[in-house]
Amino acid sequence: MIDIPILNQNILPVVHIAASLARRLFLSIFKQAQLFCQQGKPTQVDGRIFLRNRYGNSLWAFFWLTLIPVSATNSIELPRASSVPGGVAVIELPATGKQRPEAWYRDRKVMVVNNADHWYAVIGIPLSAKPGKHAVTVKGATKKKIAFPVSEKKYREQHLTIKNKRMVNPNADDLKRIRREKKEIVDAFNHWRDIQQIDARFILPVDGPMSSPFGLRRFFNQQPRRPHSGLDIAAPKGSPVHAPAIGIVIATGNYFFNGNTVFIDHGQGLITMYCHMDHIDVNKGDVLAEGQMIGTVGMTGRVTGAHLHWSVSLNNTRVDPELFLPVSK
Ligand SMILES: [Zn+2]
Repeated sequence: MIDIPILNQNILPVVHIAASLARRLFLSIFKQAQLFCQQGKPTQVDGRIFLRNRYGNSLWAFFWLTLIPVSATNSIELPRASSVPGGVAVIELPATGKQRPEAWYRDRKVMVVNNADHWYAVIGIPLSAKPGKHAVTVKGATKKKIAFPVSEKKYREQHLTIKNKRMVNPNADDLKRIRREKKEIVDAFNHWRDIQQIDARFILPVDGPMSSPFGLRRFFNQQPRRPHSGLDIAAPKGSPVHAPAIGIVIATGNYFFNGNTVFIDHGQGLITMYCHMDHIDVNKGDVLAEGQMIGTVGMTGRVTGAHLHWSVSLNNTRVDPELFLPVSK
């Protein structure tokens, strides 16, 4: 078991502020250096010739070299783009400048991030979306619509037999409970935390094979049901479940279908959900480091065996978690 120290909730904002100050300090030094080095060029101002600074060009090269790693840390890791139903579209926005533009897709606010001085909308496309021309609306000085194509993707069918009939055809009391829980779940997925830097490259939350991919068209006891909105990872009951990236626990609960569940907010509408857990080891408000244990794999809720159901959501739209994982598995 990996033992990762819990990131103290009070320390995290301090780290962020320190990082931001350090960056500002560097940029200020960089600007001063640029001015100093430029004085090295023979310039004539008001009839006076400024003496050449013999170290100017070397100093300038040195600062360029030190700038490269700093600008690299300024870029973020985006999910892999796959403009299909259930995928993620990464669309470059025509906005420039430091001010983050706001963007909407199907009346839902979408993630906007800066990567190497360009702004990108990171859009979750619903499984129910029709292939064709879609558009993201950008709000700047004027409203602008940017069109992007969504291609077709065929997902496989899956037929499952559930022995507990109530899990396929819930009774009236169950339905009441399901409706109440649905609201809680949608509220969690709708959560918006406005942060600049987002870690959108994940580690696998559980060690184990992917037993059921995202998007499968499902049939329970021959009855068609909603497509699979997450990724299933098979692992024995009690296996540790880890946070795939830095985030904040926004909700935990025990639900009819999902069993023991944890929601993690990674910022700007990027929410992950962990279901059927045996044990939950975190509480609402906990700040998590990447790899921190949040609980254990179980078989609570509607399951046929112990596994983790993992959902990734952008703009309250469940998308393929594999797009957030490294390609080599
Ligand atoms: Zn699942």
